[in-house]
Amino acid sequence: MKPAPFEYQAPATLRETIDLLVSDPEATVIAGGQSLIPVLAFRLAAPSMLVDLRRVPGLGNIAVGESGVRLGARVRWRDIEHDRRLATAHPLLLEAIAHVAHYQIRNRGTVGGSLAHADPAAELPGIAVTCDAEITLVGAAGARTIRAGEFFTGPLCSLVDYLIPTATDFPAIRAIALENHPSPSNPLGVKGAGEGAIIPVGGLIANAVAAALSSVGAEPNELPLSPPRVWRLANPS
Ligand SMILES: Cc1cc2nc3c(=O)[nH]c(=O)nc-3n(C[C@H](O)[C@H](O)[C@H](O)COP(=O)(O)OP(=O)(O)OC[C@H]3O[C@@H](n4cnc5c(N)ncnc54)[C@H](O)[C@@H]3O)c2cc1C
Repeated sequence: MKPAPFEYQAPATLRETIDLLVSDPEATVIAGGQSLIPVLAFRLAAPSMLVDLRRVPGLGNIAVGESGVRLGARVRWRDIEHDRRLATAHPLLLEAIAHVAHYQIRNRGTVGGSLAHADPAAELPGIAVTCDAEITLVGAAGARTIRAGEFFTGPLCSLVDYLIPTATDFPAIRAIALENHPSPSNPLGVKGAGEGAIIPVGGLIANAVAAALSSVGAEPNELPLSPPRVWRLANPS
């Protein structure tokens, strides 16, 4: 699957960035793209505009002070790994970040992206809560600083998601489209376990039925796999 069409902007200042986000409620920020791009590719989100932070000055700095370490939103994992001051200034941070994914991801993934994405399995959100970190949010109304424990509102939810849909906002579910011409290696056009992406339970069951029927030379290529249809496939005469 490919992302839905979107506009792309790479503003040169933080002010411009905020103005773009305010002007279009469907716009979203992109930093390293390591979580957002897969989300877009699976069409789990379809923002109208991506506002890229790569040109915004002042977001890529690591400051070491007496009371701790300040990380800019666009600081990448590799910036942390390569900053020798952190060995004494924040050994926990340095040690934990070494466990983040592999180096390609560490070359692009950012502090702001990880905090905003709020994956409970990610390293930085856990460290932020453990260390009682303060997170600064900048918006049209100015800047405010809150504690990490208040920033994360649930798995994959943070205060950055100020537009969390409520139950009434859920779009109507229409229908599931089925392929007319399934691939020859996968007659039902569904994925198997471990093939990546989110596997619907129905697809897994259909794959299992197809595998079982292959032992009697039957190849199901029509859904739904209702009991009468499975019976006919297994007993063609
Ligand atoms: C294969 C793979 C393995 C990974 N393994 C690990 C792991 O072991 N441990 C781990 O901790 N992480 C892991 N990650 C996550 C990765 O390290 C990044 O932290 C994560 O993808 C988000 O950072 P990003 O800069 O790429 O954000 P993006 O993908 O660009 O953005 C993610 C979200 O944050 C928002 N966002 C980004 N920056 C900001 C900002 N400054 N302000 C507001 N919102 C913002 C975006 O709008 C988007 O919703 C993995 C990722 C992949 C693809």
